[in-house]
Amino acid sequence: MSELNKIMNVISIEALDAIPTPIFFKNKEGFFSGWNRAFAEFCGLTSFSAELGGILEIYAEEDRKLLHDGGNIIVETSVTRADGKQRNVLLHKAGFVKNNGQTYSGLVGTMIDVTELRSAEKKADYLTHYDHLTELPNPVLFQDRLNTEIVHARRHDEHLAVFAIDIDHFKKVNNVFGHDLGDSLLKVVARRITETIREEDTAARFGGDSFTLLLRNIRYEEDAAIIAKKIHESIKQPFFLDDQEVFISVSVGIALYPLDGDNVQTLIKNSDVALHRAKERGRSTHLFFAPEMNLRASEQMKLQNSLRRALDRDEFIIHYQPQYDAESGRMIGVEALLRWQHPDLGMVYPDQFIQLAEHIGLIVPIGEWVLRTACQDAMVWNEENENQIRVSVNLSPRQFQQPDLYEKICQIINETGIEPAWLGLEVTESSVMQNVDYAVCVLTELKKLGVHLSVDDFGTGYSSLSYLKKFPIDLLKIDRSFITDIPKDSDDIAIVSAVVSMAHNLNLKVLAEGVETLEQKDFLHSVSCDEFQGFYFSRPVAAHHILQ
Ligand code: C2E
Ligand code: CA
Ligand code: CA
Repeated sequence: MSELNKIMNVISIEALDAIPTPIFFKNKEGFFSGWNRAFAEFCGLTSFSAELGGILEIYAEEDRKLLHDGGNIIVETSVTRADGKQRNVLLHKAGFVKNNGQTYSGLVGTMIDVTELRSAEKKADYLTHYDHLTELPNPVLFQDRLNTEIVHARRHDEHLAVFAIDIDHFKKVNNVFGHDLGDSLLKVVARRITETIREEDTAARFGGDSFTLLLRNIRYEEDAAIIAKKIHESIKQPFFLDDQEVFISVSVGIALYPLDGDNVQTLIKNSDVALHRAKERGRSTHLFFAPEMNLRASEQMKLQNSLRRALDRDEFIIHYQPQYDAESGRMIGVEALLRWQHPDLGMVYPDQFIQLAEHIGLIVPIGEWVLRTACQDAMVWNEENENQIRVSVNLSPRQFQQPDLYEKICQIINETGIEPAWLGLEVTESSVMQNVDYAVCVLTELKKLGVHLSVDDFGTGYSSLSYLKKFPIDLLKIDRSFITDIPKDSDDIAIVSAVVSMAHNLNLKVLAEGVETLEQKDFLHSVSCDEFQGFYFSRPVAAHHILQ
């Protein structure tokens, strides 16, 4: 009796044949031992005795396991039918025991043809990720890729560029030539744009006549500018519509990662803001994003003008936030934090004006004022007090790039008479990473003067700790964002502990910023963090409070 017939003592063969799903059995050795009509038809078998070898795998690896341990499994595989057609099938297989036996005597399987389903899925996937006219990725796929690239760039210290591109006066083309020719123009534009970028970059259509690019591993702004020029050149070449030569141009807005945003939404939004400004500038041009573009033109001018006058009108003041030694609990320094006492707006905090000042270059004279004032204040405290403290001043990226920075600092030290060791300078990770050789050179000179050097906002930038070995710095300031969720967030706990111990291996001290609670302080103490700063100890206060 065949294996199947034995089973058929329980179930009738007619019943099995009536089931439209292909069903098969395999014996202990893994050979096909029986099947129903649907299976025979699927495989193109005419008789039940036909050879099955070559149609389905005889002894799949997973069968061995099922026949040994039992259980069931679903696998998707591709099989060639007897008529030569390739099909995708879902096999659901289970081992079984007969007559209360001790060992598995065979396995039973069903087979579902999912070929059409899979191709429909592929089509749906295409439709949800690609633009059908130009065959470029659509916004969904673009955002997905941008997200992936941001993660990659963060890990590898790379820069990205996002381009928003828009055809100038596209409406006119549509009106003159009609929508069909408008569509063919879009296709050619898509092709020309794609030809200007590298294979690893992405060009997408965001609907209508707007396109978006993602350029990977851009070294500097210049790289992005070169691509923008190439695009303008390529689009300038005539298009042929209805046997007529047509000339068009595009406007381009560019946002860079990480400078102009560190997430998908911000980068796309800011490239778009820059695009609109480029259009206002008279089209056929490209513009890089700048923070003040987000303000309306009139507000922007107003703020710029009042900022320009603020220094002359003595509207700036400095608040100082104490920094404490973890071991002794003593105040060992203060950080100088700039405030703007605006005649109409009241107290304005740095978030609202530092970036603008940086962009229009005003940060240089403002920063010089902060340095001088902070040194003068420190002289007053340190001459009146035997517990001498260090005053740390933030240097903006632009200030750090000034060729006469070193001379300026020497001049201020001489003028005010401050001990160089009492002066600290805070530079951000991104500003030293912009041009590493230059940074090493400047920091080395400053170190020789005896000034205290720290890297600010550590962890938010793009450098690894080992990279910082190159710089002659004294202190790492762990960014507030890593402290906020301590002790709730186990990732932050792990990061902070690791940073402290690695920094200590490099002979660097570590200060934690933004300490707000006793729990945070206790945790930081337990991992041997060297210095603390934050609202738990003191908010930034006016200069005359520092000695009290
Ligand atoms: P920063 O250098 O990271 O300064 C620390 C900021 O965190 C300060 O904000 C401070 O008030 C705030 N902070 C301190 N402890 C805590 C805390 O426990 N909790 C919370 N929530 N916040 C805390 P501020 O004064 O608004 O300054 C913001 C940023 O502006 C500074 O960040 C710095 O990058 C920049 N900045 C301030 N003054 C100057 C300056 O004179 N020159 C330059 N170039 N940048 C400056
Ligand atoms: Ca700082
Ligand atoms: Ca900071």
